[in-house]
Amino acid sequence: MYTKVFRRTRISRLLWSGVGAAVLLSGVLPAIILVHLYRGFADARQNAARLGQLRVVLDAANSISAERAPSNILMDSSAATRAKARAAVERARAKTDRALHLVSHGKVPLPLVTGVSRQLVVARGLVDAAAARTPPHYVDVQRAIDAMFAAYDAYRAVVNWQAQDLVRADPRLSAPVMRALVLCALRDDAGRLGSQIVAPLITRTMVPPQNINAFHLILGRTEQQLGLLEFEQNAGGQSLALAALQASARTEFTGEGEPLMERLIAEGEAGGPYALDATAFTERYVATLGPLVAWRSAWIDQLVSDYTAEENRALVQFATVFAVALVIIVMIAGIALFIQARVLQPLLEASEAVIGLGEEQPTARARRHRGVREVEALFDAINRLESRLRERSAHTRQLRHLAETDHLTKLLNLRTFEARGKPRIANPDAHARIFLILLDIDHFKSINDRYGHPMGDSVLAAVAGALSNSVRPGDLVARVGGEEFGILCEARDASSIQALAHRVRLVLRGLEIRTPDGECVPVTASFGVAEATGVTWRQLVSRADVALYAAKMAGRDRIHFAAGGPSPNEHSAS
Ligand code: GH3
Ligand code: MG
Ligand code: MG
Repeated sequence: MYTKVFRRTRISRLLWSGVGAAVLLSGVLPAIILVHLYRGFADARQNAARLGQLRVVLDAANSISAERAPSNILMDSSAATRAKARAAVERARAKTDRALHLVSHGKVPLPLVTGVSRQLVVARGLVDAAAARTPPHYVDVQRAIDAMFAAYDAYRAVVNWQAQDLVRADPRLSAPVMRALVLCALRDDAGRLGSQIVAPLITRTMVPPQNINAFHLILGRTEQQLGLLEFEQNAGGQSLALAALQASARTEFTGEGEPLMERLIAEGEAGGPYALDATAFTERYVATLGPLVAWRSAWIDQLVSDYTAEENRALVQFATVFAVALVIIVMIAGIALFIQARVLQPLLEASEAVIGLGEEQPTARARRHRGVREVEALFDAINRLESRLRERSAHTRQLRHLAETDHLTKLLNLRTFEARGKPRIANPDAHARIFLILLDIDHFKSINDRYGHPMGDSVLAAVAGALSNSVRPGDLVARVGGEEFGILCEARDASSIQALAHRVRLVLRGLEIRTPDGECVPVTASFGVAEATGVTWRQLVSRADVALYAAKMAGRDRIHFAAGGPSPNEHSAS
């Protein structure tokens, strides 16, 4: 029987296991890279955000430092300039408050910020009180200035907290954060330096020794800070634009601001007079600090943009690796699907087709497969094999037909009659009985003699045709001898077989076979009938033969039943 080939073969399982392994392997490496890239992306993103927060904190520090200049001018103002000075102070104070408000929205602990605000309130109160007195008192002015210093000193806690938070989160940030802190401190100290001369200028008094000491102390510190920043610059890591800002900050501050201060301190030590008043000094001095502020601001901007760029770079790399990995996986799966559909499945079909050919299945025609040349060649070969097999089986059928039939009459020959008849009588149908009719043409020799052998052949063919037409499709009709025929047929009972034999006898008698001269050749035959029930094939034939012989003996052209058959035993031609 035709066995169906399993759909999933070993090779197919092997293919899909291989695909699974390849997908896994080609997924693992990108996955590791992706995790790494994602970490880089997330770190850069967080650092950009943290540095943004540091910028907010340092901007507020700058505002607190910057509020001192308009406060000094206010304390120095005359009635004529007071309104303008007051407006400038209010603007500076509002700017500081806004900056602190922004700081309080960050991560910095709120008590630190509120502590600074309290200090500022005190300092501003002292500034306003000192400004309210005309002429101002030295002690009031210096106390107000010291209170402004104290506010900034309180704010240092905020700056330090933010810096530590950053460095704790990412130690790589320590160097840039340190630089930002030094820049911030430099800007404040530079401002503080100027404030040492402000009270003596406003009150037109000598510079007291503690201010001179403080001046030298702070001057030393700013030199140190500039040195540190230059050291950093030499280590690299600063853009050209930043280096230019640094250079101009140094030129302005050490070339303009410091000499201006030194001149005024010298004048103050000598007891005056001063070449400038407090307002003019403050305006000139603050201008020299501009590049310092710009430098600090540009540095922190640069830091934030560096990390934002790193964040974007990591994101692009992440997307690229992800896309490439996806393409590789899709390609592997695509190739496997292609192999499954265009090679393995066709191979299964080919094997089914070959098995079908072996089983001579009519539907086993191999389908044409396009795509893979080798598979196409295989199917071409199968189709060629199939047409060869068809030719051969047609030939075989023809040979079998020739072997089974009689050439002249096209009826079954004796051997086939026996081969097919035996199993029939061995397994009879429960509702029907089987009979064998043997018939022999009467005086056939004299037909040959009188009309010639070819005419005899014609008679044989005509009789064979008449016999075939008289029986039912399932019955067997054979030429069992020269002019002897056999019919193996089923019948309900003996009387219906008797009727059949009678009908055949009459049909043969009625055959009109004419010679070329138009003469009619008379044909009769004698019949011997036997029932197959309970006998072997040999016994059946022998009994029918005996009955046929009896019919001949009784005068021919009649039907005889074998002994034990139906009565009357004889049917004559009449
Ligand atoms: P009976 O009534 O007793 O059967 O007489 P008969 O002449 O028919 O019997 P017999 O057996 O004497 O003759 C049979 C003849 O059939 C002998 C043989 O020449 C002839 N014959 C056998 N095969 C063929 C054949 O294929 N073609 C022809 N034309 N004659 C054949
Ligand atoms: Mg005969
Ligand atoms: Mg004979």
